[in-house]
Amino acid sequence: VFILAIESSCDDTAAAVLHNDKVLSNVVANQLIHAQYGGVVPELASRAHQQNIVPVIDAALRKANISKEQLSAIAFTQGPGLMGSLLVGSSFAKSMALALEIPLVSVNHMHAHILAHFIDEEGFEKPSFPFLALTISGGHTQIVQVNDFFDMTIIGETTDDAVGEAFDKSAKILGLPYPGGPLVDKHAQLGNPKTFAFTKPKVPGLNFSFSGLKTAILYFVQKKKLDNPDFIAENINDICASIQYTIVEILMDKLKLAVKETGINQIAIGGGVSANSGIRKAIKDAEQKYGWKTFVPKFEYTTDNAAMIGIVGYQKFLSKQFETAAVVSKARIQF
Ligand code: ATP
Ligand code: FE
Repeated sequence: VFILAIESSCDDTAAAVLHNDKVLSNVVANQLIHAQYGGVVPELASRAHQQNIVPVIDAALRKANISKEQLSAIAFTQGPGLMGSLLVGSSFAKSMALALEIPLVSVNHMHAHILAHFIDEEGFEKPSFPFLALTISGGHTQIVQVNDFFDMTIIGETTDDAVGEAFDKSAKILGLPYPGGPLVDKHAQLGNPKTFAFTKPKVPGLNFSFSGLKTAILYFVQKKKLDNPDFIAENINDICASIQYTIVEILMDKLKLAVKETGINQIAIGGGVSANSGIRKAIKDAEQKYGWKTFVPKFEYTTDNAAMIGIVGYQKFLSKQFETAAVVSKARIQF
C-alpha cells in the first residue's frame, strides 16, 4: 500500500509518502513569513499553503521515487486547525483522489500526533494497547487513554492555554522571536533550573492550566527589570531553565496521577512540545524512577509533519474508512 499524505492545518505545508507503515519521504515547508508578526496570520498561512502545496507534494513523490499512478490512497488533515489552511490541503487531496480514482482518507490531526508512534522506524518500538498519550502541542495539551487505533478518550486537558502557547508566550515576554518554544529549550539547556521558582497551578484532576504561569512570568520579569534593566539578558539561560523546569514538573505531576488512576504505565508523548529536551529527559528518566515504559517520538515526527497523517491514513485504509468528496474540513473536530 502506498499512501500520499497531506498536512496543512496551521502554518506548515507538509507531504509524505508511506509504503505500508514505512516512511519513504517526509517533506515540510515552513512558513517563515509569520515570524515578523509574532504569531501565525491565518490569511497569510492560507496563501503560503497555496504556493507551497504543489512543489511540496511533487518533492514528496520524487523523494519516494513513486509515480502518482502507484498511489493506493490519499490522506489529508480534516482538522482541527485554521479553516483557510485546512481547505487548501483538503481541496487538493479531493481533486487528486478524484483524478486518480483512488480512495480518500480524512485524518484527525490530534490522532496523528499520537499514532505517529506506529510509524515503522529502526530503533523505535511501537506502544501496545492500552497506553496513555500526553499530547503537547501549539494548540492542545491532552492526556489520552488509547485503547486501540480508533478508540481513544481524552481523560485530561488544558482549561486555558496549551503548553506550546505557554512556551511561546513566555518566550515573547523574554523578547525571543516567534515561535519561541525551541529557543526557550536552547537557553534552558545552558541554565540552572533551580534559580527561580514559579508556582505551579492548582488544577483538580487530570486537567491543566497554563495561563497563570504566563502572568507570573510577566510580573516577575517586570519587577526584576525595575532593579536591573539588563536582568533578562544577564539571566536568560537560568530564566528559561526555570520556566522549562516548572512546565515539565506540571506535565509529569499529571502523568503520575493519570498512571495512578488508570493503572496504565505505558506512556507516549507527542506533538510539537515533545521535541523539548526537558520533557524528553523527564519521560525517559521515569522508566527508572517509576518503572514506566515510555515512548518518545523521532524528532521529525514531533512538530507538524505529514508522515503522521500517512500512518493514520494507512490504518484507515486497512479498515476501509474512506470518504467521499463531500467530506468537509473542520476547524474544531469531535475527538
Ligand atoms: P496543534 O497540534 O495543537 O494543532 P500545532 O500543530 O500548531 O498545534 P505543533 O506543530 O504540534 O503545534 O507544535 C508547535 C508547538 O511546539 C509550538 O508552540 C512550539 O513552540 C512548540 N515547540 C517546538 N519545539 C519545542 C521545544 N524544543 N521546546 C518547547 N516547545 C517546542
Ligand atoms: Fe500539531
